[in-house]
Amino acid sequence: MNEKSNLRTPIVSVMGHVDHGKTTLLDKIRGTTITSGEAGAITQHIGATEVPIDLISKKCGDSNLANKFIVPGLLFIDTPGHHAFTSLRSRGGALADLVIVIVDINEGFMPQTKESLEILKRFKTPFVVVANKMDRIHGWNPTQDAPFSATYQNQSQRVKDILDQKVYEIVGELYEAGFNSNRYDRVTDFQRNIGVVPISASTGEGIPDLLMVLMGLAQKFLESDLSYDADGPGVGTVLEVKEEKGLGATIDLILYDGKLRKGDTIVIGSSGEPIKTKVRALLKPNYLSEIRTEDKFRQVNEVTAATGVKVSAPDLENVLAGSPIRAATGDVDRVVDEVKKELEDIKISTENTGLTIKADTIGSLEALANELAEEEIPIRKAEVGDISQRDIIEVSAIEDQYYSVIIGFNVKVLPDAKEKAQFSDIKLFVNDVIYKLIDDYKEWVEEKKALSQNTISEMIVKPGRFTILPDYVFRQSKPAVVGVKVNGGIIKTNVNVAKKDGTVVGKIKGIQSEGENVGEAKVGMEVAVAIEGPVVGRQIKENEMLYIDVPEKHAKILEHELYDSLKDHEIETLESFLEIKRKNNPFWAK
Ligand code: GDP
Repeated sequence: MNEKSNLRTPIVSVMGHVDHGKTTLLDKIRGTTITSGEAGAITQHIGATEVPIDLISKKCGDSNLANKFIVPGLLFIDTPGHHAFTSLRSRGGALADLVIVIVDINEGFMPQTKESLEILKRFKTPFVVVANKMDRIHGWNPTQDAPFSATYQNQSQRVKDILDQKVYEIVGELYEAGFNSNRYDRVTDFQRNIGVVPISASTGEGIPDLLMVLMGLAQKFLESDLSYDADGPGVGTVLEVKEEKGLGATIDLILYDGKLRKGDTIVIGSSGEPIKTKVRALLKPNYLSEIRTEDKFRQVNEVTAATGVKVSAPDLENVLAGSPIRAATGDVDRVVDEVKKELEDIKISTENTGLTIKADTIGSLEALANELAEEEIPIRKAEVGDISQRDIIEVSAIEDQYYSVIIGFNVKVLPDAKEKAQFSDIKLFVNDVIYKLIDDYKEWVEEKKALSQNTISEMIVKPGRFTILPDYVFRQSKPAVVGVKVNGGIIKTNVNVAKKDGTVVGKIKGIQSEGENVGEAKVGMEVAVAIEGPVVGRQIKENEMLYIDVPEKHAKILEHELYDSLKDHEIETLESFLEIKRKNNPFWAK
């Protein structure tokens, strides 16, 4: 006999790139037998769907399944996409015990696929990859809801070859992402290898195999994680805060441990002090009347983990999606401390200066912050919520142009904020892929840097040195006109020239090359130069090397900001000029 009584249902979440089939897969799983009342039927929770072991047995055509596995079924979190981040975050690890990463077999990995894998790696969450949309392979011969092996047998050799090839491409991409994998029926050790299950969310083919693999993973990896106290105080995570007609603000939560009762005192994490309130009603979906919104829910007196439930209670307006929630039986203060501690785990370290980031849930905010930390990009402020006018006003006060930025992940820019931002220097980045946000920001910084370097570089007096050629003195003075060779850097009109001891002797008034006036002369060129100030033979002599007198401020910028963009001859020239200046004053341009 199985001993499933002390293990709760594992929570499963679907992650993957947009349009790869998350919704279709969840709908398919849900659609199998939604008719309530039927034995072994799927149960609809708030925000989640429970597939009991008996039904999985039926689907897999293995009536003995319930004896093989000790978990009572699978609880799928209904909303894919951004909620995956919420559903992933809890207890310093994952709320979702298992994850399905979905990949369109015809498209392969996309940014969100990679992002999902990174997050799973961090949380060490066991997962399975499904290669979806196999029915799109040209010539596919579908059998509705068939297990993979059965439908595979029905395909032509050509279709089989294409499928194998595509699965191997996914295996290759997983390898690049740091995971060993294989088609799930060739995996002998799921602890070492990720299983790739080819499916069609549309036809249901391969879904029995997927359910089996999930059961197997739950059994292998999670036995210890799934033990729970069915009579203990309820513990869960808020999926969503929702306004409901006649009820006001309600929260949809996934309870992953214990029991929650009507009338229980609950403690919920928030951005400030935890919220203490009392459960007014516990609500479950009402299948029978789907038409009138007032009848959408039915009340229950208690729920036991793992389950999804809607809670109606006072003071829920400011609850953040992703927050921990605990029932407090007895010592409420201790529970408040526990909730605080859980939130501390998620604390995002902020600096005095840096980016302002916003995200839709605590979990997604944390995911974004982690990625930024990896890139060593500092965060000034991290908050859950849409980008508001207040955010724009705050960020306007930031002086550093690279941080006059708001990064929004899965959030909206509120209309008044949008308007305000248009008339400010603030740059907004909003996207639902973290990688894209970070790449866009980095690219923008690079562009901005290059642009400002160009403007600085145009304004700055560059280093240059030249030698007065013997026998090329065309005029002694007022101005002195001499033939010169540029030995390093660049010389331009209207800049001062200095001798090797640092004394300034005059200003270049004109440069001629082959009888034409030119504004500048580069290294290697021989040109005629008119210098206002000195007299040849007195202050300056033939064969003497003269330097462009780079102003101190410019020298500083050259040495500290533009150094990497200078050519070797420019660096040599700058360094010998700095040496000249620093002989008299060691702190010159420092
Ligand atoms: P999501 O953005 O990941 O939730 O993707 P959806 O589930 O909305 O799917 C995107 C599109 O792909 C929809 O038009 C689906 O009908 C289609 N689709 C999803 N799964 C399959 C599949 O297995 N086969 C085929 N042919 N189309 C699919």
